[in-house]
Amino acid sequence: RKYVYFFGEGKAEGRGDMKELLGGKGANLAEMTSIGLPVPPGFTLSTEVCTEFYKNNRQYPDGLTEEVEKNLARVEELMGKKFGDPENPLLVSVRSGARVSMPGMMDTVLNLGLNDETVKGVIKQSGDERFAYDSYRRFIQMYSNVVLGMNGEILEDLLEEMKEERDVELDTQLSSADMKALVQQFKDKVKETLGRDFPTDPREQLWGAIGAVFGSWMNPRAITYRRLNNIPAEWGTAVTVQSMVFGNMGDDCATGVAFTRNPSTGEKIFFGEFLVNAQGEDVVAGIRTPQPINKGKGDSDLPSMEEVLPECYAQLMKIQQILETHYRDMQDIEFTIEKHKLYMLQTRSGKRTARAAVQIAVDMVKEGLIGEKEAVLRVEPRQLDQLLHPSLDPKASKEVIAKGLPASPGAVNGEVVFTADEAEDAARIGLKVILVRIETSPEDIHGMHAAQGILTARGGMTSHAAVVARGMGKCCVAGCGDIKVDYSKQQFATKSGAIIRKGDVITLDGSTGEVMQGAVPTVSPELTGDFAMLMEWVDKFRKLKVRTNADTPNDAAVARKFGAEGIGLCRTEHMFFDAERIMAVREMILSEDVEGRKKALTKILPMQKSDFKGLFREMKGLPVTIRLLDPPLHEFLPQKEAEIEEIAKVMGVDASVLRHKVDYLHEFNPMLGHRGCRLGITYPEIYDMQVQAIMEAACELIQEEGYRIVPEIMIPLVGHVKELEIMRANAVRIADGVIERLGAKVEYLIGTMIELPRAALTADEVASQADFFSFGTNDLTQTTFGLSRDDAGKFLPQYVEQNILPNDPFVTLDQRGVGQLVEMGCEKGRKARPGIKLGICGEHGGDPESVIFCHKIGLDYVSCSPFRVPIARLAAAHAAL
Ligand code: ADP
Ligand code: MG
Ligand code: MG
Repeated sequence: RKYVYFFGEGKAEGRGDMKELLGGKGANLAEMTSIGLPVPPGFTLSTEVCTEFYKNNRQYPDGLTEEVEKNLARVEELMGKKFGDPENPLLVSVRSGARVSMPGMMDTVLNLGLNDETVKGVIKQSGDERFAYDSYRRFIQMYSNVVLGMNGEILEDLLEEMKEERDVELDTQLSSADMKALVQQFKDKVKETLGRDFPTDPREQLWGAIGAVFGSWMNPRAITYRRLNNIPAEWGTAVTVQSMVFGNMGDDCATGVAFTRNPSTGEKIFFGEFLVNAQGEDVVAGIRTPQPINKGKGDSDLPSMEEVLPECYAQLMKIQQILETHYRDMQDIEFTIEKHKLYMLQTRSGKRTARAAVQIAVDMVKEGLIGEKEAVLRVEPRQLDQLLHPSLDPKASKEVIAKGLPASPGAVNGEVVFTADEAEDAARIGLKVILVRIETSPEDIHGMHAAQGILTARGGMTSHAAVVARGMGKCCVAGCGDIKVDYSKQQFATKSGAIIRKGDVITLDGSTGEVMQGAVPTVSPELTGDFAMLMEWVDKFRKLKVRTNADTPNDAAVARKFGAEGIGLCRTEHMFFDAERIMAVREMILSEDVEGRKKALTKILPMQKSDFKGLFREMKGLPVTIRLLDPPLHEFLPQKEAEIEEIAKVMGVDASVLRHKVDYLHEFNPMLGHRGCRLGITYPEIYDMQVQAIMEAACELIQEEGYRIVPEIMIPLVGHVKELEIMRANAVRIADGVIERLGAKVEYLIGTMIELPRAALTADEVASQADFFSFGTNDLTQTTFGLSRDDAGKFLPQYVEQNILPNDPFVTLDQRGVGQLVEMGCEKGRKARPGIKLGICGEHGGDPESVIFCHKIGLDYVSCSPFRVPIARLAAAHAAL
């Protein structure tokens, strides 16, 4: 078996499409090498090494050492240097890289191979002592932290002390002697802290670093990131060992990162940041403020690369063009300039906001780089969520207290917190918070996830906060130099002198970088232009219809704008909670006999009728599924003593009567209690009234306004065909009665929700009484798992964390279990009644993975909340392509 893949001097054993084996970084380094771009030579240990490593109790496969030695020799030959040679040493970087990039999760070690002997060789070759010791001290810092597990701040503090002693601000201002002194201090400190010498043998260093990269695959941060992003642990990481090039050899050297297009807006403008005389992650880490690459772009007044290093700039522009055309996608690149010579160190498809994803996809179709299908596939359904979210109301007044970089768009407000843990705690109890940090690091991921938005004082557009926030679709304002964060006082001060304390509300605008005091109102998103164009293509390719769950004409209107093709679920109970109606509803519940109930229901009838008219009108002839009353009646009664008394007074009944009724209706397990069609069986007059309201609304609209309406009446919680048989007969009697009385020509359908396992198992019988099935996957998940959704919060997160379940089954459909019931229900239903309409109306209808499943099993439509309609449309297109 081959474990190591070489690249260098125009030839590579790997290719760009070998990401599974070589990781994204390794595969693209190979690809860039083959297409003739300047890439320092090196080799990649495949992800199979990682998998074997963990399979065999953290032992490498046989023959790996020999393979690494062979490849190292090839690099030595190309570079004309020897690893560990005191005269002319080869230095390497050891880099991690999984199949998909995991920002900040895995650490890279640079300048590996240095010790007290080889550093002299570096001095001899470069003639630059300062550079040699700068590299050496960086190596000790990185290695002791990443490989030896020492707290990075310990050595960072020594560096800070040195700068203070010399009264300088920047690392670059320290002299050669300072760097040399630091190396000694660092080595001493490592020994003091860890109780052993810093390793001097280059081969020990190399294997230490390789082991650390493989080891980091299982560190808690990486595990968290994988969990949040659904990345399987089995994938493993690759390790790339690559000969070093140096951006820290003086002012004709530099290092930088860039995007071939703007990752925030999608605008077709090469966009990036760099630092002169710097190395590795200096740009991202915010050690100095990075300079822009293009002249006059961005907010920076620092000189651009275009001005400082014009020939390198020209070369970089050419290369980025080559890369984009080659990969046919926006690239995120990392480069280093050593003595005016440009080297490419990484390229990958750049992470982007939803807005940028849409713009880039549409632009690339216009440019002829990709086709419509590919454009549709380029936008992640989940990501669209960002676009469908509000932005600041342009008419609202706002008090801007600071301005940073517009790192990730959206407009959010919340209470200020200063630590990731606080953010998580607050989110758990339902508070909206903004996480404010000087800068973020991978340890903050859980807090970033929990917060509405992120504000950092330091760091650029490519800082950790910016990259991670964009990936999560979170609003982020980064590098806000206007604010001074004081963790110890739990507050930050703005340039203008405002003090914002923990718990104060602020608003962030991730599209402009503005920070505002208080909560500024927001408005709904604009769905025209590129977005509309992309969605047009989406609709061309998808087979699955997308409806919405909507209870009010207003919801329905929003959903129509998002492209809903009907209502898949109207929950009529929501109409009962209205302040005006609840009294009549309660009167109905409290009635002792049928006559009393009917009287109360007569009051509700006209209100229900006008609700349905509103919905039908809004949907303009599109199908509308209306579910008859579902929840147990006690939900409409007051529960607290004070409320009971107050309401009894208003209703003119004795408090004891009301209390007695509340007690009587109390259920031990309401989820499995007197609800759904069980209400219809015991109190048929309730459903009768609802069917009457639906049919009268339809008849009147058809007669008055000429719509074509086919109402779909849905009976909930059927477990046995007999239940549906009775409910159907009742509904038909009422519906036909209305039609005859009003003399209108209206068709209607009567169907059921499949939300109990028994209904799915006997779907053939149930289908004999149903014109359609709508899979109510929320209840079906509850009843299949025997898992109460309202109580699952106490243990379900742990199930996901411990990987007992791959994800929350209420969010993403459990295809193995619940999905099997859905599939069976479809098959049996279709067999018994060919042409039966099949849909799904649980939360899953807006979850991309679940939508893809629904497509596969051949449902006619999914139905989801209005804001998720475009997500479902796009997911349905992905499923079809
Ligand atoms: P990450 O996965 O965090 O992006 P990388 O492996 O890309 O980590 O390394 C981070 C940075 O280190 C790179 O962007 C580059 O600037 C620098 N680097 C890595 N390898 C080399 C090398 N061989 N020569 C010079 N710089 C390197
Ligand atoms: Mg990194
Ligand atoms: Mg990188």
